[in-house]
Amino acid sequence: MAEYETIHEPARETPVMRRCDVLVVGGGPAGCAAASSSAAVGADTVLVERYGHLGGMSTGGFVIWIDRMTDWDGNQVISGYARDLIDLVPKDAILGPPDDLWGSRDSRVVDYWQERHNAYQGTVTWSPTIDPEMLKIAYMELALERGVKLILHAWGVEAVREGNEMRGVIFESKSGRQAILADVVVDATGDGDIFALAKAPVEMDAFDPSKDPDGADFVIPATIHDRMNISCRWGGVDMERYREFKRNQADDHRAIMSRGTKMGVPDRPHMMPRDDMTLFMAPKFSGYSPLNVEDLTTVEIEGRRRMMVMLDFYRKNVPGFERAWVMDTSPQIGTRHSRRLKGAKRMVSEEWKAGKIQEDEVGVSPSPNRRFPNVSLPLGCLIPESLDNMLAAGRNLSSDPASHSFMREIPQCWLMGQAAGVAAAVAVGNGVSVRNVGVAEVRDLLSKQGVYLNAG
Ligand SMILES: Cc1cc2nc3c(=O)[nH]c(=O)nc-3n(C[C@H](O)[C@H](O)[C@H](O)COP(=O)(O)OP(=O)(O)OC[C@H]3O[C@@H](n4cnc5c(N)ncnc54)[C@H](O)[C@@H]3O)c2cc1C
Repeated sequence: MAEYETIHEPARETPVMRRCDVLVVGGGPAGCAAASSSAAVGADTVLVERYGHLGGMSTGGFVIWIDRMTDWDGNQVISGYARDLIDLVPKDAILGPPDDLWGSRDSRVVDYWQERHNAYQGTVTWSPTIDPEMLKIAYMELALERGVKLILHAWGVEAVREGNEMRGVIFESKSGRQAILADVVVDATGDGDIFALAKAPVEMDAFDPSKDPDGADFVIPATIHDRMNISCRWGGVDMERYREFKRNQADDHRAIMSRGTKMGVPDRPHMMPRDDMTLFMAPKFSGYSPLNVEDLTTVEIEGRRRMMVMLDFYRKNVPGFERAWVMDTSPQIGTRHSRRLKGAKRMVSEEWKAGKIQEDEVGVSPSPNRRFPNVSLPLGCLIPESLDNMLAAGRNLSSDPASHSFMREIPQCWLMGQAAGVAAAVAVGNGVSVRNVGVAEVRDLLSKQGVYLNAG
């Protein structure tokens, strides 16, 4: 066999499949919000996703516990697209408290909802668990209803960049290699694939620099942040029985779980809208890179092996799990963090902890802790330092690690996606670069779409 170290690929002509105003790559929470919100303003919008469904981690990753949309007083500050989307989900596919309980600190109500992941720091929150299949349909129907052109099963593999400007993206699919050209490209791949391909500067927190293809900055130590996993759903369980056991035989429950923990078995079966199912967003693996194909493969292999250990342990030891069976494992590997954009602005914890309201605010997030006020989202953290006609939205935003730890949650990704989509549409409509877009007009349109904003 020839011993080449690299292969020289000949240059080729790539057909242009389509031209549009706004091209969104990645159909996760941020990308769906971006595309639907851009189309709602009238921009000709295309959304490209590498898998056959929409929702990213929030559906295909089985991250179905959608984090808090309410602030510490129970106000729904993440609304707009979030509300429109959840309104489309059938009520029996949602596990969450009615709105008159949001913000309640009544200990009985808090205890009940805490067990169902809808209470945090002694306060009832709007953080529903949503059936992923119903959420996939809601994402899809909302996008189609608003006129988004969907392209599924297509993987963005190259940026079309001219000088300092993005012109489009090249995709690989069963139809071969094709390009879509656009006035503005939104990178919602979660991993920042497109801005990295366009050679926009990135930052990244990782553990083994040799595994990072971009040679980015390495700054934080191991936390939940870097963990990767496949998730699994089990059927045949009796969660009511399990809850009773946990409540009434708390010491026995603790003893079993502590034995399990020593064997690497997770102690948190998640509640679902149905009591005969449960979910584990585990087992988790540290020290692997979501940008390294061998690491991705290892997590898939070891995740399944460890899941079988978990299943055996739960069946033999935990009341309510005797007849448990594996319904499915998540088709998308769970990644909390990879590349982040180096943006025109960087969200930094000193600012939101001090309650700074950004002059280019395009959304408001609940703060991660009741000690801090609501957090003002600046448009600048979605715009690259210098590359033009490009926005990023979702967990690849420009931020420090502390801000990323909550801005990467699904509601915040909806918030950023909606802001990016509207900003992109306004830029195209006015024929200006996204970095020069009129923030007042963007805010006005966002507010008409139901987004909560601080008074400007
Ligand atoms: C195990 C785990 C537990 C979590 N727990 C919670 C929780 O309890 N609550 C919460 O709110 N959040 C939680 N999160 C965080 C949250 O799920 C993610 O941060 C969020 O989904 C990110 O959204 P996104 O749209 O930025 O990216 P993603 O959800 O990753 O979506 C990106 C999309 O882009 C597509 N894509 C990627 N590359 C390409 C390409 N090159 N071409 C075409 N398409 C591409 C992907 O297929 C995917 O659909 C958790 C995450 C994990 C992994």
